[in-house]
Amino acid sequence: MAEYTETRCGGVAEGDLPDLSDCDDDADDDEQWQPVEEGEADSLQLQQQVTCLFCDRALSSVAATLQHCSAEHQVDLVDAIRRYNLDDYGYIKMINFIRSTRCDAACLMGLPDASLPWESEDFLRPVLPDDPLLQTDPEELCAGEGLNQGLLPTGNQYALLQRAQAAEERARLSEEALARAMDDLHKLRLLAQGLVLSSESSKPGNPGGLGSVAELREDEDEAYFSSYGHYGIHEEMLKDKVRTESYRDFMYRNPELFQDKVVLDVGCGTGILSMFAARSGAKKVIGVDQSEIIYQAMDIVRANQLEDKITLIKGRVEDVQLPVEKVDIIISEWMGYFLLFESMLDSVLHARDLYLADNGSVYPDLCNISLAAVGDTVKHQERIAFWDDVYGFSMACMKKAVVPEAVVEVVAADTLVSEPAVIQTIDCNRVCLSELEFSSDFCLKITSTTECTAIVGYFDIFFDNGCSNKVMFSTGPHTSKTHWKQTLFLLERPIPVRAGEELRGKISVRKNKKDPRSLLVTFDLRDRKLTYSLQ
Ligand code: SAH
Repeated sequence: MAEYTETRCGGVAEGDLPDLSDCDDDADDDEQWQPVEEGEADSLQLQQQVTCLFCDRALSSVAATLQHCSAEHQVDLVDAIRRYNLDDYGYIKMINFIRSTRCDAACLMGLPDASLPWESEDFLRPVLPDDPLLQTDPEELCAGEGLNQGLLPTGNQYALLQRAQAAEERARLSEEALARAMDDLHKLRLLAQGLVLSSESSKPGNPGGLGSVAELREDEDEAYFSSYGHYGIHEEMLKDKVRTESYRDFMYRNPELFQDKVVLDVGCGTGILSMFAARSGAKKVIGVDQSEIIYQAMDIVRANQLEDKITLIKGRVEDVQLPVEKVDIIISEWMGYFLLFESMLDSVLHARDLYLADNGSVYPDLCNISLAAVGDTVKHQERIAFWDDVYGFSMACMKKAVVPEAVVEVVAADTLVSEPAVIQTIDCNRVCLSELEFSSDFCLKITSTTECTAIVGYFDIFFDNGCSNKVMFSTGPHTSKTHWKQTLFLLERPIPVRAGEELRGKISVRKNKKDPRSLLVTFDLRDRKLTYSLQ
C-alpha cells in the first residue's frame, strides 16, 4: 500500500527540486514491513491522517481519501493522473492546486489537456505541511489499477493497519477517560463549593445548619470512627463490668428471646455483643461497624468458631447493604455521656426503621435520664473559686470559659443534696429522632440545708421488653462506677438550699448544630439561665 510504504520528498522549495526517484525510501522494498512497535504504530496512525482535497474531512489513509473523493465528490484521482498524463511534479502541483484554490470536483474533471491550471512552479509548494498525498507516488497509484487493487493492504500491511486501528481505538478511549476525569474534577469543584457554603450556613443563628448525625459529612465522622479504631477504647468498655455484664446477663438469661432469631448488632466493635447473641441461640447475627476495629472482630469471631453464625460488615449502618431484609432483634451499645452524647442512637433508630421486623425489638429498650443536686463546696472551690486568686492574681474571667463546659467525672454519692429526678424516659422501640432533643421541667427534692454547687446528670438502662429475666444498670452516683461516670454541670454561684424544699427548674437538651454529636444543655434554675456544652 503506497501510503504506508513510501516516505516521499513532499515538501520542496522552488528552485530546489530533488530527483524524486532518488529518495531513499523505496516503495517496493518489502524489507520495510518489519513489525512495528506500539508507539510507532500510534505515530504512524497520526502521520496517515489525510485531509480530503474537496472538503474538510480527515481520513485515516491515502486509500481511504481516494475512495472518499470518488464516492463523495465523484473525482477519480487515478483517472485524473492518467487523463492529464501527470508525472511526479505534475501530480504534486495538481494536489497543491486543488488545495490552494479549493476548486470543486467538476472543474477538475473538465479541464482542457493543453493548458492545465497548475502549470506554475508555485504549486510545488505544499499547501498542507506533511501532506500524505504528496508523499504518494502517482505511478504507484496508477500501477495499482486504482483503488481496489494497488491500494488494498496485503499481509504485513494488513496487520499494521489493524494495529494502527487498535491504536486509534485506544486513543479514543483515552480521550473518553480524560473527558470523564474532567467531569469528575468539575463535580469535585462543585462539591467543594457546596461544602464551603454549607459550613457558612451552619454558623450560629442560621436555620439551614446541620441538624442530625444523618446529615454529618463523611470527613466530620472520620475522627469519630477513627477514635473507635484503637483498641484502648474497646478495652475500657469491655472492662466496664457493669456495662458488659448487663448485656451478657440480658442475653444469657433470656435465651428464648434469641432462639433462632436474626440479630443485628449496630456498632459491633470487637464483636462482644454479637458473640453473646450467638451463644444465646441466635440463628444469625449481623455485626456492622464503620471503624477499623471490625477487622479485629473478624479475627475474634473466627478464633471463637462463630463465623458460621456471625457475619461482620464494615461500614456505617446507614450505608451498608444487609444480607437480610428484616431482623428480629437489634442490639447496640450506643450510649454516650449523659446518655445522648455521640448521638449514636440516631443510627440505631435509622436501622430500626429500616430493618426491624414488625414484632421485633431493640435492646436495651428503655432509658432514663436523671438529675440530682450536688453540694460540694470543696470541689467548687477547686474548680471555680480557684480563679479568683491565682498566685495573688485575679483570673476570674476564666470562669466564663470553665463553667459552661460540663465535666465528666465520678460524683461521690455523699455530696448529693437532693433526691434524683427522672427528666426523660426514652423507649428505643418507639422514640423518633426529633424527640432526642427535648425540654423538661424538673423538681429536685432537697435533702439537706446547704449550698447547691452543681447539678449532676446520669442515666439508667433497662432490658425489659418481653424479658422473663429483666436486667438493668445505672450510671448514677449511688451505684458501681461505670466508664460513663457522671456528668457535672457546675454553677458559677452556688444556690443556697434548705432541706425539704423543692428546687424547680427546666432543662433543655439539644444537639450542637456545629457538631451534631455533641450536646448543648441549658438549665433555667431559679432566676438563672445556664448553657453547657458537652464535648
Ligand atoms: N458493641 C461494642 C462496641 C460499642 S462502641 C461493645 O459493646 O463493646 C460503639 C461502636 O459503634 C463503635 O465501634 C463505633 O465505631 C460504632 N458505630 C457508631 N456509629 C456507627 C454507625 N452509624 N455505623 C456503624 N458503626 C457505628
